[in-house]
Amino acid sequence: MARIPDAELARLKAEVSVQRLVEGCGVELRRQGKDLVGRCPFHEDDTPSLVVTPGKNLWHCLGACGRGGGPIDWVMTAQGVSFRHAVELLREASPALSTVTLTHPRTGGSGPASRSASAKLPALVTPDAADQELLDKTLGFYAEALATHEGAQAFLAKRKIDDPEAVEQFRVGFVDRTLGYRLPGSQTAAGRQVRKRLRGLGLIKSTRHEHFRGYLTFPVLDAEGHVGEVYGRLLGTPDSRTKPPKHLYLPGPHRGVWNVAAFADTDELIVCESIIDALTLWCAGFRHVTAAYGTDGWTDEHQAAVEAHGIRRVLIAFDADPAGDKGAKTLAAELATIGVESYRVELPPGQDVNEVAVGAKLPAETLGKFLRKASWMDALARPAPQTLPRPEPVVEEPPAPEPEPVEDAPEPEPEPLPAAEVVEPGLDSPAHVVDPVEPEPAE
Ligand SMILES: [Zn+2]
Repeated sequence: MARIPDAELARLKAEVSVQRLVEGCGVELRRQGKDLVGRCPFHEDDTPSLVVTPGKNLWHCLGACGRGGGPIDWVMTAQGVSFRHAVELLREASPALSTVTLTHPRTGGSGPASRSASAKLPALVTPDAADQELLDKTLGFYAEALATHEGAQAFLAKRKIDDPEAVEQFRVGFVDRTLGYRLPGSQTAAGRQVRKRLRGLGLIKSTRHEHFRGYLTFPVLDAEGHVGEVYGRLLGTPDSRTKPPKHLYLPGPHRGVWNVAAFADTDELIVCESIIDALTLWCAGFRHVTAAYGTDGWTDEHQAAVEAHGIRRVLIAFDADPAGDKGAKTLAAELATIGVESYRVELPPGQDVNEVAVGAKLPAETLGKFLRKASWMDALARPAPQTLPRPEPVVEEPPAPEPEPVEDAPEPEPEPLPAAEVVEPGLDSPAHVVDPVEPEPAE
């Protein structure tokens, strides 16, 4: 995602009048010395406690909310949007800020030009864009939203899947409900058309809400970077009334193989049962990794990709629980039909790859240890192969030097997870996906 240049931010902070933004929200301001005061719209305010200082282009509430800042902070607070989105709104003088007049010396310094009040954010796609482009661009928009969402970033950090390279390469995103700002108005023909197409793609539901709102999104990209399937992981505590599922996919059959681009450079592959587990290994330096769609979610597409790329060995890193064991056996038998040897990665009982990483001081070391100890699976009841060496997973990025021998290093207790995260072992795997419950429209 392109970073917003500092000069651009400075320009917005200097040029967009806080006074006009505040007045545009219906706040009456009265002069008081160098300042202007009015009733703060963000809480019940009888004693005008909102102070605007035009000389510094700042605002501050002396009352209950205590908020303040410059024009960007005002738009974030008033519109309930992210920093980046506020910047976008200010850049483009969205109709939501109808009284804002931006001065853009944009074209060769031809002088300040007032932006029309009906100016809109650039549309996500042009009306003639194909469905694939609409899908790709929407997931790209979600990826941009992630960059400014603290809660989503904190989730990734806690799960040790926040490597910036991984987040960018796998286009991890978050659905912060602002997609509508980038679509033509829903009352227009173009707006109706694009919403209908988004419904067809499964990104908008019949309730008109976004399918993945409030979810982190993990798209499954093909070798050219186009989105096939999307896995959604609910962020935060599920609403006890609407009970949104923790795991969600696009409607319809699964499409695509996660990290298929990496299949070309390896004859050994690690297979996890969830994208979060696979991403965990990738972030720890094990890049030849993919994810099934749950313990029984090995698709024909997976099988075809393994065969087409000449993969010879698969390390099955499903959860160490009965479902994981059963799925691993089934997968090993399936792989044996195309001559691929399988090895079971034996994690501590009840744990998945991500839990192991989260609980480890040095995830790369610890995961590497489990991968090296993977045991050959006798999928066809034959003697163990003599010709194939023990699997030695390739760590492409050497882990940080270990200060003490791994064997003696005490494994720290996993940090306690908040209530919403305390789940039975393996429950964080898409094998347990249930049909999504349609939440009541809340807005
Ligand atoms: Zn206030």
